[in-house]
Amino acid sequence: MNSTGILAVPYEGTSKMTRADHVRDRPSNQATCKGSDMATANRTCSIPDCDSPIFRRLWCTTHYARVLHHGSPYVNLRPELSMSPSERFWIKVSKGQPGECWPWRAYIQRAGYGTFSLGSRMALAHRVAWELTRGSIPDETYIDHLCRNRACVNPHHMELVTFKENVLRGFSPAAINGRKANCIRGHAFTPENTMSAGGSSQGRKCRACHNAYVRWKYAKRRAGEWPTGEKWNGALL
Ligand SMILES: [Zn+2]
Ligand SMILES: [Zn+2]
Ligand SMILES: [Zn+2]
Repeated sequence: MNSTGILAVPYEGTSKMTRADHVRDRPSNQATCKGSDMATANRTCSIPDCDSPIFRRLWCTTHYARVLHHGSPYVNLRPELSMSPSERFWIKVSKGQPGECWPWRAYIQRAGYGTFSLGSRMALAHRVAWELTRGSIPDETYIDHLCRNRACVNPHHMELVTFKENVLRGFSPAAINGRKANCIRGHAFTPENTMSAGGSSQGRKCRACHNAYVRWKYAKRRAGEWPTGEKWNGALL
């Protein structure tokens, strides 16, 4: 019977057997375990291409665990490992009609874009969708979602734009101001009437209003009324 290990030590009157000892001692367990282990000693797993030593019955620890937990040593626990990147990508997409949004079903970033792992790095899912269907994305260009649904990876809902265009299509203050045709006093932002707001800002300024303000300021200064508590009333001088 058991000639090695803890069971070889005779039980003292005071020592208690643990539940594990009882289980190991069960006649049924000894018969199956011992018998098969001895018969298969020094042999390798019966699965083709697996060179690991046999652990129980016909299999190594890995394949025995698969039989135990999944019913088959051939169960594929990571089917994604044997897929091409393209196959792996599209199983994560709820593909609909070309006109519909195709939501990303895997991880979505806090900003709302889907992400897809490409080896060691995470890529944005909508950019991968573009590259898989429409080709590479040149530097200095961005993908704009025409549907404004960031989780959508339908390449028909996207357009390549430059960074400036992308910002000006949005709803940021710069974008809203950039779309206005007139200054706050109603002068048209024609090329001749538009000047840079200066400094590091990308903003623009109405030339008519700017010139009027400067004339008013220097008129005040000539009259010795500068600095003045007054505010320019917007009148064109
Ligand atoms: Zn094996
Ligand atoms: Zn969409
Ligand atoms: Zn103006």
